[in-house]
Amino acid sequence: MSLIRNHLQSPIEYVASQGYPVRERGGKWRTCVCFNCGHSRMRVNGETGAFVCMSGCGARGGDVVAMQMAIHGQDFVTACKALGAWQDDPKDDKTPRRRPLPFPARDALEVLVEEAQFAAVIAGNVAHGVEISGDERLRAMQCAGRIRTVARYVQEGRT
Ligand SMILES: [Zn+2]
Repeated sequence: MSLIRNHLQSPIEYVASQGYPVRERGGKWRTCVCFNCGHSRMRVNGETGAFVCMSGCGARGGDVVAMQMAIHGQDFVTACKALGAWQDDPKDDKTPRRRPLPFPARDALEVLVEEAQFAAVIAGNVAHGVEISGDERLRAMQCAGRIRTVARYVQEGRT
């Protein structure tokens, strides 16, 4: 009995089908409303289904199964079955069940790189005497908070 990973929907189609359409049309990382806290800063990896809420509410995971569990409060097996990706094989009882993927450190790094690029643009503007708006200043503060949030997730994952 196990999860059949290639029966899972694409992450972007899946979140849209659950009422959380992504904003961007392209790119590896997309943004939608967080399943957990409702802030519009959930980052979703369109290829792997890794997700992390940048508001710091703690919602994060590594695949569509983890999304299903977070949205519907289901356990792993229930989530796999609801997704049509569970194989029941009575002859194969001893096959270990696969867990949902945790949010990978590699994905956390990519999110950090995006935020760092934003910080560099703001810093570059200031250095060249470009006035930054109140909104941009606020966004820069959020950027620092997001980097702290992701760093904490990675640290927690290592312990
Ligand atoms: Zn959230």
